Amino acid sequence: MIGLLLVSHSAGLAAATEVLVRQMTGATLKLKCAAGAGENGERLGTDASVILARLEELRDCESIAVLMDIGSAILSTEMARDLADEKLRAKIFLSPAPFVEGAVAAGVAAAAGLPLARVLAEAESGLAQKQSGLGAPPAPAETPAPAGVSRTAIIGDPHGIHLRPAAAFVNFCSRFNASVTLRHAGRAARGDSLTALMALGAAGGATVTIEATGPDAEAAAEALCRLLATPAPEAAAPVAAPSASGPVPLSPGTAAGNVFKARRAPREIPRHPAENQVAARKRLDSAIAAARNSLAGGPILQAQAALLADPAILDAAAKHITEGRNEAAAWHDAITEIAAGYAALETPYLRERARDVREAGDAVLRVLLGAPAGISWPAEEIIVLVEDLTAAEAAALPENVLGVLDSKGGATSHATILLRAAGIPALGNVALEEIPETIAFDGATATIIPNPDAATMQRMQGGAGITAGPGAIALPDGSTLEFWANVAGERDSAAAARAGAYGIGLARTEILFLDRADAPTEDEQAARIAAMLAPFKGRPVVVRALDAGADKPVPFLNLSPEANPALGVRGIRALLKHPNFFAAHLRAILRAGAGHDLRIMIPMVTIPEEMQATRTILAAAASELGVPIPRLGAMIEVPAAAIRIQDFCAVSDFFSIGTNDLTQYVFAAERGVAGLEHLADSGAAAILDLIAGILRRAGETPVSVCGEAAGDPRTARLLVKAGIRRFSMGAARLPAIRDIFAT
Ligand code: PEP
Ligand code: MG
Repeated sequence: MIGLLLVSHSAGLAAATEVLVRQMTGATLKLKCAAGAGENGERLGTDASVILARLEELRDCESIAVLMDIGSAILSTEMARDLADEKLRAKIFLSPAPFVEGAVAAGVAAAAGLPLARVLAEAESGLAQKQSGLGAPPAPAETPAPAGVSRTAIIGDPHGIHLRPAAAFVNFCSRFNASVTLRHAGRAARGDSLTALMALGAAGGATVTIEATGPDAEAAAEALCRLLATPAPEAAAPVAAPSASGPVPLSPGTAAGNVFKARRAPREIPRHPAENQVAARKRLDSAIAAARNSLAGGPILQAQAALLADPAILDAAAKHITEGRNEAAAWHDAITEIAAGYAALETPYLRERARDVREAGDAVLRVLLGAPAGISWPAEEIIVLVEDLTAAEAAALPENVLGVLDSKGGATSHATILLRAAGIPALGNVALEEIPETIAFDGATATIIPNPDAATMQRMQGGAGITAGPGAIALPDGSTLEFWANVAGERDSAAAARAGAYGIGLARTEILFLDRADAPTEDEQAARIAAMLAPFKGRPVVVRALDAGADKPVPFLNLSPEANPALGVRGIRALLKHPNFFAAHLRAILRAGAGHDLRIMIPMVTIPEEMQATRTILAAAASELGVPIPRLGAMIEVPAAAIRIQDFCAVSDFFSIGTNDLTQYVFAAERGVAGLEHLADSGAAAILDLIAGILRRAGETPVSVCGEAAGDPRTARLLVKAGIRRFSMGAARLPAIRDIFAT
C-alpha cells in the first residue's frame, strides 16, 4: 500500500485532517502526521527531524506520498528526504496538492490500493470538485493549466526596487493564488524572494515585466503593476535615513573633545563541520525566529526581519548545511553571497542594500554566537561616535568616554537609560559622517559646535553637571522628598554617590550579564553586584533581581524565541522557570548586600503568587547563608498588579513603580518603537490616575517611582502632586530634579 504523510505547521490542523481522511478510509490506511514545532509540536512550525522519524515509520510502505501545507513545510520535508538513507529516499514523493483536499483524495486512492501515480494524480486533482462547484475552471488534470499573464510596468520609486518596495511586492504576491516572476534586463526573480527581487537591480524609471500564472494571475499582475508604478511615499528619503531631522537629546550634560569612531571587531566564524545536520538546521531555524523577534521596531527593521524569511537566503543556508557546514558558517556564507550580489550591482543605491542583508544576517549570528568582540578603546579622553549603541556596550563604556553621539538612539532605550545613569551626555539621530574631529555638544539642547575655540572648549567641558547635594529635602507641606539613584554598574554608583543620592533605589543586575552565553557563577555575581553597591556602604540599597527577557537578552537563560517578547517570559516569569539559578542569584545578592541596608526587588510582578514563590526561595537562601531575610518589594509595572495593588500588600514590604514598562503596557505602545512617544507618556492622566489609585490602595506599604518619569521635570512635578515622595533616577538627572523642588 502507498503510505501518506501529512506535514503541517499546526498539530491541530494535521490531526483534524487525519480524522477527515479516516472518515473515508477507515483505519487500514497507512497515514502519519508530522506537525508543529517544539517538544510536543505545541508551536506553529515544521521540524525536519520529526518528519524524518515519521517517514521511517512508513518505511515498509511501497512508496510514501507527502502532502505539505505552507512555506517552510516544503523546505523541512526536502531536508528530511535529503537526510533519509538511499532506500527510504527512493520511496518518498512530495505532492504539490492542496493540503486538506489532496489528503482526502490521496487517502481514498491509497486505501483503495491504487498505484503511486494514481494516488499522486488524485491528490493533485483534489480541488476539481470545489472548482467545478464554484463555476471555476475544472481541475488541472482535465484541462490545461491557466494561461500565463504578462504586464509591463515602469518603476515609480526613484530608488528602484530596494528593500521596502521588494518587501511590499512579496507581501502583495502572497495575497494572490498565483505564481509570479519579475523580469528585468534579461534577469528573472521569483515574486516571493525579497533578495532575488532586489538583485534584479531595477532602478527607478526602469521597465520590468510581471509574469503570473495560476487562478489569480490576472488580478495579481494588475495589482503588482500598480504597486511598482507607485512612487513610495518615503521614496525621497534614503532607506537608512534617520526618521527625525537633526540630533535629539538623549542624556543631559555637556562635553568637549576629540571624537572617536567606535568600530566593532569582526566576529570569528567557527568552521568545524556540523555533527548533526538536523540539529544544525533546528538551531538555525530557532536563531532566525529569535532574530526576527528582535528586529521588530520601525519599517527598516521590519524590512530586515522580512529578509530573514526570504527563500533565497534560507535555501542557500539550508544547502550549505547539507554540504556539511555548521549552522553559523552556513548562515554567514549565505549572507555573504547574497550581500556580494548587491555589492556588484550598478545602481549605487541598490549597492548600499548589501548592508541591510548583512545587518539582518548579523542579528541571526548574534543569537547563534553571542555579541561580537567589543570595541577597542583608546586611552585618551574621547567623545564616541557610534551606530546604535547597545545596552551591553553602554554598560561597558570606559571612564575616559566624555560623551556619546549615536546615529540612532531612543529616549527610553536601555542604552540611553544607562548613559543617563552614568552621567554621560549623549545625543541621538546624529549624522556621524558630518562630525569633524573636534567638537563640543550639549546633551540637553542637542547643540553641536564643530571645531570649538579654546574658550568654548573650556566652557563645555562640564560633563553631566553632577553636583553634590542633599539626598532628601523638606517640602512646604512638611513631608520629605527623597532622591535615590538608579544604577547598573560601578561607574553609575560612583556618579550617584557624587550627586549625594539618598541610596540606590534600583540596581539593574541584568545589565552586568547582558549577552552572556554562559551563566555567571554565584561567586561572580556576588563580586560584581558588591562592586556596584560599594559606594553606598551602610546606605539603603534596592537590588533588583535579574530582569531578563524582551529587550534585555541574557542568552544563558535559554529563553525561547517569542512573537511578542515584551509580553512573554521576562523578569520574574523567567526567574521562576529557573529556580536553581534564581536561588543562586538571590544568595549572590544577599552576599553582596552585606554591610548595606539591603532590600530586594522583583521585576514584572503580575500576580501575588509570584511574590509568594519568591519569598519561599529567598527564605531558603537566607537560611543557607545564616543571614536575616531582607525586605522584599514588588516592582509595579504590569497593569494587573497596579490595579489590584491591595492583593500584593501581604506579600510585599514595599512597592516601586516602573513607569517605563507600566506606560508601555497601559498604552500598548512598545517603549523601544520610535514614533509612539505621543501615546506612551508617563505623565498622562491614565498613568497619573493609576498611580493615585496605587497610593490610595497600598495602605501603609511604601511606594516609590523608579522609572524614567522620576527624572523628567514635568512628570516629576505631577508625581509629587499625586503624592509620591520617593524618587529613583539616573545620577545625571538628580541635580536638576532636586533644584526644582528645593526652590
Ligand atoms: C521601568 O520599567 O520603569 C523600570 C524601571 O525598569 P526597566 O526600565 O529596567 O525595565
Ligand atoms: Mg521595567
